[in-house]
Amino acid sequence: MPELPEVEGVVRELSSVSIGRTISEVQVSDVIRRSKELGKEAIVKGITLEDFIEELASMTIVNITRRSKYIYFHMEKNGLPYLLVSHLGMSGAWFNVDTLEDVVEQKFRNHVHVVFKMADGGLLVYSDIRRFGELRLLQKEGDYIPLLKMAPEPFDASAEDHFIAMASLPKYARKPIKEVIMDGHVISGCGNIYATEALFRMKIHPGRAAERISEKRKRELFREIVDVLQESIDAGGSSISDYRNINGEAGTMQTRLKMYGKKECGTCGKETKSMKIAGRTSVYCPQCQR
Ligand SMILES: [Zn+2]
Repeated sequence: MPELPEVEGVVRELSSVSIGRTISEVQVSDVIRRSKELGKEAIVKGITLEDFIEELASMTIVNITRRSKYIYFHMEKNGLPYLLVSHLGMSGAWFNVDTLEDVVEQKFRNHVHVVFKMADGGLLVYSDIRRFGELRLLQKEGDYIPLLKMAPEPFDASAEDHFIAMASLPKYARKPIKEVIMDGHVISGCGNIYATEALFRMKIHPGRAAERISEKRKRELFREIVDVLQESIDAGGSSISDYRNINGEAGTMQTRLKMYGKKECGTCGKETKSMKIAGRTSVYCPQCQR
């Protein structure tokens, strides 16, 4: 699943190749069409396909930014601003290509769901193998309330105090620390990979209750999370499972991971253990993490 660093990588690459370009035509897959007919909403959410296709045509991409794990395409049409919000889900990927054949890996080419034909002739392609991704066309961020409820960006000055305040609320204090740091209302964009790594670096057991960690240690943990996220952004993200950047390339952060997906601890050599926390597999070292 792409996490914050991978999404940041996609945003930077998309920005460099698509700002200023105009969409001339939108195509969606038969899978999306059938899903809409069945009253479900695969990928394209909160809008009819007719409106999605018609409204996006002639829109210009003015800017692309990241908010937590969402990609924000800031659009403009007839002088009015729009916001196209993209979440990559488990396996979503954007490709900037001349033709669909240029989506090199077959598994991505077989699951192309949305194609923006650009006025200059190229294609901006959204592929999603497992179809957990989302595309929403809004006028502004506030039109989709969950976007307003996300914690501050982890790199914002206010994010650390926000985390400390949230983690001490009765709602979170007794929960396992790993569940708390992975909650998007508490910290933005700290998914399983980076939560696992930050807890290992801090020698904190993922199942320890938030209230049983001192404020000083919590602040250190927060800074460790920020460091791990920044390191991964610098490394082009981790390429666990199906993450690809817009050129179809994988990142290198996975080679630096010390605990996520490991069978034994890199520090003490002991066999790692795993437990389910908030439905996610949590790997940890029973010796190093308390
Ligand atoms: Zn260990």
